[in-house]
Amino acid sequence: EHCHFIDSPQQAKLFQREMINTFLRYTDPSLRQHTVLTIGIVGGGATGVELAAELFDASRLLNAYGVTALDHQQISVHILEAAPRLLPGLSERISQTVQQELETMGVTVHIGTAIKEAHANQLVTADGDTIETDLNVWAAGIKAPEFLTKLGLSTNKKNQINVEKTLQSVDDPSIFALGDCASCPQGEDGTVPPRAQAAHQQAKLLAKNINHLLEGKALNEFHYRDHGSLVSLARYDAVGNLMRSSASRGLFLEGWFARQCYASLYRMHQVSIHGVPKTGLTWLVDKINRYLRPRMKLH
Ligand SMILES: Cc1cc2nc3c(=O)[nH]c(=O)nc-3n(C[C@H](O)[C@H](O)[C@H](O)COP(=O)(O)OP(=O)(O)OC[C@H]3O[C@@H](n4cnc5c(N)ncnc54)[C@H](O)[C@@H]3O)c2cc1C
Repeated sequence: EHCHFIDSPQQAKLFQREMINTFLRYTDPSLRQHTVLTIGIVGGGATGVELAAELFDASRLLNAYGVTALDHQQISVHILEAAPRLLPGLSERISQTVQQELETMGVTVHIGTAIKEAHANQLVTADGDTIETDLNVWAAGIKAPEFLTKLGLSTNKKNQINVEKTLQSVDDPSIFALGDCASCPQGEDGTVPPRAQAAHQQAKLLAKNINHLLEGKALNEFHYRDHGSLVSLARYDAVGNLMRSSASRGLFLEGWFARQCYASLYRMHQVSIHGVPKTGLTWLVDKINRYLRPRMKLH
């Protein structure tokens, strides 16, 4: 109850409003809780890392919006990650580059630091250390909705429905599950990661498997193909790899080119949801809005 989540647009809007209110509260010295406004982000995965960079960028923009009483040096962003490195799901090279970039920006990175308690103005680590905070964000993984556990199908600790490689639930072969709400086996003892590209690939296989089931044919098994990942560090940088395959680690990307790839992937997602004409119009509107709208939304 003492952390914000940014897993849905509503939660993200709530956090944005609270963040602006906290920034404004700090402009009045009598309302300050600490000398430095500290934002704690629990979880150094892609969400936590991207948020840290965006918050750093937002803190730099404050003066341009007239919040002159709060200098960006009075804002501190901490990322707390339990694993021995940031982005534990990605390659070590990406993880090191991202950590260097964040530290250069001024973000404080705590690795090997598990959080066991979150209070309104404090995070407590597993070792009992405390970090005074003004705002906390939980970006350390999410659970699937609770109701999935009440369907009479077996679920794991994250409320995901346990499925076979064919995406049929282990209890009833006529019920399929895919994406974040499914726990699909992969490799020796792993499961398919909850990622957009996995959900997309599963959707394609599922469409075929439903037809196969209706036609009495054998069902295909799902094999996840990780095509790579890109992490955006606000307008400063992007880091990642693309064109990964089981045989190669893919192409390492950084800087301007990586940022262009990140933007293109975003548009490709929009094309798959809205189609080419609507995505073209959205792109045009976004371009115009870059001149018309403020970079930081204050209300
Ligand atoms: C902040 C954030 C950043 C992310 N960034 C990346 C990224 O960069 N790359 C990447 O690969 N993945 C990313 N992910 C993960 C990615 O978004 C998910 O893995 C992907 O969206 C899963 O697709 P899905 O269709 O299974 O679930 P979702 O996209 O979550 O879709 C599920 C839908 O079901 C609806 N729903 C829920 N309950 C019900 C109900 N009872 N009845 C009807 N509808 C319901 C929800 O409203 C939602 O629209 C990110 C996730 C978050 C939260």
